[in-house]
Amino acid sequence: MAAEKVDRKRKRETTEMTGGKKQKLVSIHEGKREREAGWLEGEVAALRREAQGCRFDKKRLRFLSEAQKIKQGSDGVLYWMARDQRVQDNWALIHAQQLAMAENLPLHICFCLVPRYLDSTFRQYAFMLKGLQEVAKECSVLDIQFHLLRGEPGDILPGFVKDQNFGAVVTDFNPLRVPLQWVENVKKGLQPDIPFMQVDAHNVVPCWEASGKLEYGARTIRGKITKLLPKFLTEIPLVDKHPHTSKKTAEPVNWDEIFSSLEVDRSVGEVEWAKPGTAGGMATLESFIDVRLRHFATQRNNPNSAALSQLSPWVHFGQISAQRVVKEVQRSGKNASQSVASFTEELVVRRELADNFCFYNANYDNVKGAYEWAQKTLKDHAKDHRPYLYTREQLENAKTHDQLWNAAQRQMVLEGKMHGFLRMYWAKKILEWTSSPEEGLSIAIYLNDRYSLDGCDPNGYVGCMWSICGIHDQGWKERSIFGKVRYMNYAGCTRKFDVAQFERRYATKKA
Ligand SMILES: Cc1cc2nc3c(=O)[nH]c(=O)nc-3n(C[C@H](O)[C@H](O)[C@H](O)COP(=O)(O)OP(=O)(O)OC[C@H]3O[C@@H](n4cnc5c(N)ncnc54)[C@H](O)[C@@H]3O)c2cc1C
Repeated sequence: MAAEKVDRKRKRETTEMTGGKKQKLVSIHEGKREREAGWLEGEVAALRREAQGCRFDKKRLRFLSEAQKIKQGSDGVLYWMARDQRVQDNWALIHAQQLAMAENLPLHICFCLVPRYLDSTFRQYAFMLKGLQEVAKECSVLDIQFHLLRGEPGDILPGFVKDQNFGAVVTDFNPLRVPLQWVENVKKGLQPDIPFMQVDAHNVVPCWEASGKLEYGARTIRGKITKLLPKFLTEIPLVDKHPHTSKKTAEPVNWDEIFSSLEVDRSVGEVEWAKPGTAGGMATLESFIDVRLRHFATQRNNPNSAALSQLSPWVHFGQISAQRVVKEVQRSGKNASQSVASFTEELVVRRELADNFCFYNANYDNVKGAYEWAQKTLKDHAKDHRPYLYTREQLENAKTHDQLWNAAQRQMVLEGKMHGFLRMYWAKKILEWTSSPEEGLSIAIYLNDRYSLDGCDPNGYVGCMWSICGIHDQGWKERSIFGKVRYMNYAGCTRKFDVAQFERRYATKKA
């Protein structure tokens, strides 16, 4: 009863902060453009068409079933879309279409909508569903059947494949626990004569090709990825109108009903600055190339500056392909080589390192997943005096003594995204102000997954683990609470950027 009361109070306060509705953010697109908006879509469409016939590299794929040959006498090929929620620049769909064309079969896509997913709220679900609406529209133009199925994949997909008489199933790749379990369950339920294959459509270098083991850090994976880039950072062919029409059409999706039936927490509302879907992602990429990219190398650690790509929500939901992003940034950023290099380091090396960590470390989101030195040092300092102790509720409502921290928390709650530099400071302070590293880590993950549009992502688990448990980092000078885990403080932030300006921006910002 008491917990319910606390939960209701928390929801009320969050709703007061977010208004349970769309939030405005105008600052990220500020800056001057030299060409008219909309040029990127046209150029990319031409590039895709030129790449028609480009070979699908089999290293992007792994078979999950014994069966490898498409079942004869079947009625189509299915792409079970999960992590990569887009039509174009999607290697899993490209492969499914090539399989279907080789056998003169129709092509289908399905998405399994689960009623709840980790700490996601209406904010993330609405972003995802609006992106899927765009996918469904694009499919209808391309003569691809789009099915929105509701329920756990393991419960519904095998039966669906059997009823529709599909001859092969292709899916994409996600290294996180829940989606891996979905894949396992589907694998168990599929008929043994159905080939079931997984394509890593999210990473430029497929996770299993980049490395077959848990990497120690950026230093150990960078060379492996860089060596394979010429092989995998290729042009991406167009998914064109499918030449074989299906006799079985997908049930039309009642999107209003889908939205109203969601069982998720609606007190965290949508944000206005981030337009869901691939078109919104491409527009953000275009504005990054035109306006912000040139400042990336020098300004990316300044939360007052518009220098970041802001692309993580679209990358997270697979509404835009990281490979497309890096290709376009490299193609257009010839006069900003430093920025292009540091952006490629983040989008390719750091992001793919995060997938490596989650894929090869079952404890990717708890203290047991840290290196031994870090576990030991955190344990040695577990009983250290904490000058400030806050509850999850106080943190969630930005009620700490530190105005910079409160401003960062408010930025995340109001806008669905915290600046990348502040994310590190924010998580490290949670370690300092809670009673144990275990508690601190679970609060950081909870808040990040609940409010961030790009939450529930390998990058998020790795970001929290880096900040609190020192993964992918080294030991530093030992100090209270943190032990040898890297420390950050307010004074350090004031040396990097105008902290007061950032605090002012969020101190009074209203929903
Ligand atoms: C505590 C903490 C929590 C984080 N939570 C998330 C999260 O939930 N989702 C998420 O995508 N990222 C997370 N990050 C990583 C990073 O901060 C974000 O990727 C970045 O803020 C996203 O903004 P952007 O797209 O404007 O970044 P940009 O700087 O423009 O980078 C472009 C892309 O590179 C990748 N990238 C950038 N920095 C990192 C990094 N440090 N590690 C891995 N990939 C990176 C992302 O895909 C990002 O979209 C977290 C970091 C920390 C320290």
